[in-house]
Amino acid sequence: METLESLLAAIAPTGESRDILNPATGELVGKAPIHSVADLDAAVDAAEKAQPAWAALGHAKRSEIMNKAADALDENAEALAQLLSREQGKPLNGPNARFELGGASAWLRTAAATPLETEVVVDDESGHAEITYRPIGVVGAIGPWNWPIMISIWQIAPALRMGNTVVVKPSEYTPLSVLALINVLNSVLPAGVLAGVSGDREVGARLSSHPTIGKIMFTGSTATGKAIIRSSADTVKRLTLELGGNDAGIVLPDVDPKAIAEGLFWGAFINTGQTCAALKRLYVHDDIYDEVVAELTAVTGAMPMGVGTDENNVLGPLQNKAQFDIVDRLVESAKSSGAKVMVGGNPDRDQPGYFYPATIVADIENDNPLVQEEQFGPALPVIRYSKLEDAIAMANGVEVGLGASVWSADASKAREVASQIVSGTVWINSHGGVHPMIPFGGSKQSGYGLEFGVEGLKALGIPQIING
Ligand code: NAD
Repeated sequence: METLESLLAAIAPTGESRDILNPATGELVGKAPIHSVADLDAAVDAAEKAQPAWAALGHAKRSEIMNKAADALDENAEALAQLLSREQGKPLNGPNARFELGGASAWLRTAAATPLETEVVVDDESGHAEITYRPIGVVGAIGPWNWPIMISIWQIAPALRMGNTVVVKPSEYTPLSVLALINVLNSVLPAGVLAGVSGDREVGARLSSHPTIGKIMFTGSTATGKAIIRSSADTVKRLTLELGGNDAGIVLPDVDPKAIAEGLFWGAFINTGQTCAALKRLYVHDDIYDEVVAELTAVTGAMPMGVGTDENNVLGPLQNKAQFDIVDRLVESAKSSGAKVMVGGNPDRDQPGYFYPATIVADIENDNPLVQEEQFGPALPVIRYSKLEDAIAMANGVEVGLGASVWSADASKAREVASQIVSGTVWINSHGGVHPMIPFGGSKQSGYGLEFGVEGLKALGIPQIING
């Protein structure tokens, strides 16, 4: 079984390196290798060589190996969670580091267990036609820093299951957790099937233009997603793009504010707000606006925030200074517009960590930058509405559409509202929960392609029609 120290020793750089600091304390967590474009090319070559044998194993054998890899992940989950907490900043407890490791294992096992049968589309006197899904070849996986282990598994697991080999480029902010994860998986996987290359943005750019890579699984910002579309164009790569969001929640006047306050809180503040499909704008009906704001403010003010390795905390720091500055700028812009900060909004700028207190901003106009831009942090604007059609128009009035939620005691009313919202998912009376068998993906500039379940497996194969 690995320890934090042995995980770090196994990925210790032999060449150029970068210090990775704990965003809660500024302390050194470890040194990450800075791989070069040549290192990437070597990893892609090895993955290309390993791919035919991996594909030839067949689904049942690959699933068996993936389950053994999930066992290795479970055995080393605590050491990985300790590393993740130090590197990313998220607390061990709450829906954070240990939760992330549990999710990673569940997704890996589900990808291994999900059948993908050949689909017969015509079988009658006119003939017989069926669709099978063949491996793509070598898949490139490029991930963000917010849920680095879970999102890497979301990309790796279906790719391996479908007979592809994978080269992963983790975020430069959280390379240690992902490289350690890959080492744990590689204690079981055949050589060359999975590799991690921890470089800067030019390594990501090379991956997305590399002639051998057949598909890029990308999760990150909309701006980088657009860059990847461009750089992958010459080789016509397949893409799954999970991009930024600015999820709206609409609270109808029939709810019990106290009963929904905790659900609203975690919908917005999971991972200290650094979650793609977190609730980022909340529209509340005038009749219950003050009560919802009061209940949400009470829940928010009571949640312990601090250093991730303290077992009591459930909220942590922002992962990096750039993200802290975005949240700080947006809350300051809200304040200067006359919006009311109900709790939070007053970071201690002299402390070593990037802590931004959990913040609720009320009496804010819809055109405020805190509402219109993705804050990706612990500051939730609550906007008042009186006509439902206005709330729906405001919810739809941005260029992204990842998730959304409707909160109501009336399920059929909630569904009717949900059908008018343009987003990949609409949750009812919750926000942001994901499940390994329920497809997930964005609409508008939140990207395209689905992950999870059978749809997620299909996205990692090339459909071939056998006709006759
Ligand atoms: P980012 O786009 O800055 O970086 C993501 C990754 O892309 C990193 O590994 C980075 O090194 C790499 N990269 C940067 N430039 C590149 C290029 N030109 N070519 C190839 N790769 C390149 O995103 P981030 O700041 O790490 O993550 C936060 C963003 O991710 C937020 O917008 C969030 O909403 C989004 N996100 C979306 C989902 C989803 O499922 N839709 C999930 C998590 C995060």
